[in-house]
Amino acid sequence: MAVAEDEPPQAGGSKAKKPRKNAAKVSKSKRQIKHRKEINRCEHVTDHYYASGMCKNCYHSKGRVKMAELCDHKDRKLYARGVCKACYLRDYHNRLRTVNEE
Ligand SMILES: [Zn+2]
Ligand SMILES: [Zn+2]
Repeated sequence: MAVAEDEPPQAGGSKAKKPRKNAAKVSKSKRQIKHRKEINRCEHVTDHYYASGMCKNCYHSKGRVKMAELCDHKDRKLYARGVCKACYLRDYHNRLRTVNEE
């Protein structure tokens, strides 16, 4: 096994004091963004963040204002993939059953 193969020997004694590994560590910790996902669009600021600055309940009730388009229930709210929740879940279970039967 080769040890530390990714670190070529560097000329110059002073530079050896700051190996690149250290720099990588710094940028890695910087990548952790704190409180980026914060509830700020509904009053449930202590709830678990879900999406669009809202908790799960509010996101589902306020955050989705589109209506279903790809199913017969165009008066219902869009849930996913252009269909209402009932149709989406029915589709989802149908797909599961089909997979299991095969
Ligand atoms: Zn909420
Ligand atoms: Zn539907």
